[in-house]
Amino acid sequence: MRIIRSVPAMTVWTSGLRREGVGIGFVPTMGALHEGHRSLIRKARLACDAVVVSLFVNPTQFGPGEDYATYPRTLKDDAALCRAAGVDVLFAPSAAAMYPAGAHVSVTVGNLAQRWEGMIRPGHFDGVATVVTKLFSIVRPDRAYFGQKDFQQSVIVRRLAEDLSLGVKILVCPTVREADGLAMSSRNRYLTPVQRRVAPVLHEALQAGRTAILRGIRFGAQVARAMQRVVEQEPGVTVDYLACCDPRTLEPLARITKPAVLLGAIQLGRVRLIDNLLVRL
Ligand code: AMP
Repeated sequence: MRIIRSVPAMTVWTSGLRREGVGIGFVPTMGALHEGHRSLIRKARLACDAVVVSLFVNPTQFGPGEDYATYPRTLKDDAALCRAAGVDVLFAPSAAAMYPAGAHVSVTVGNLAQRWEGMIRPGHFDGVATVVTKLFSIVRPDRAYFGQKDFQQSVIVRRLAEDLSLGVKILVCPTVREADGLAMSSRNRYLTPVQRRVAPVLHEALQAGRTAILRGIRFGAQVARAMQRVVEQEPGVTVDYLACCDPRTLEPLARITKPAVLLGAIQLGRVRLIDNLLVRL
């Protein structure tokens, strides 16, 4: 496995492969890799000739007061995981390498970025869309793999690829969970032992929402209340949102007549957790 840190070196490598007709699979990450990331790498490895993983903690998707400075950076462990998973190239640029001239021009996302995560983290999805566009133009993949764990991100990235004709097939892969249901996340390592015991309540709330729908409840507000009741049983948890939405537009559903996505975000102390569940009727 090669570790490439410079943008020109990465471009040279991918241009060479593309000339030879090699199909490139790409898994963009911010590092601190876990089983969730590994599942994306595995899918890419099975479907593509060459696999590129990027490790880049992108400053432009963090707001002031967020955890950019303290985000876990574990290059050695990440490289070992990638090597064992059969990755061909680990692309790990610095912020200066990615934004040598600053970030004057960027990609702006429409309504999809205004709700939920976008409401709580203004500018976040513009930062994500911009860095994904940049990474796609450097790596020039045929297929790119994203996790359902970040549902709103996956919807936005699909639209990004489609609306800007980026020529990349976007694959969204299932959320990998701990045994107690907690969605794996690089940020889970911030949880104290007490918070870690409480954290699965988010998944439990989403499951309660799904059960309500499967039992015939068709009012989105009622489903949201069913989820809220579960979280309220745990003191010390703040709900950012728990909502029953259209999986394409992410608008809240008043009446549930088609598949829905349950979106949730909570705060445990200073740690934010997000999760979601798709419900097919
Ligand atoms: P991150 O490093 O958190 O930016 O995540 C990189 C990619 O891995 C994104 O597409 C995430 O949605 C995906 N991902 C993160 N956690 C999980 C998980 N538990 N299961 C599946 N995919 C995940």
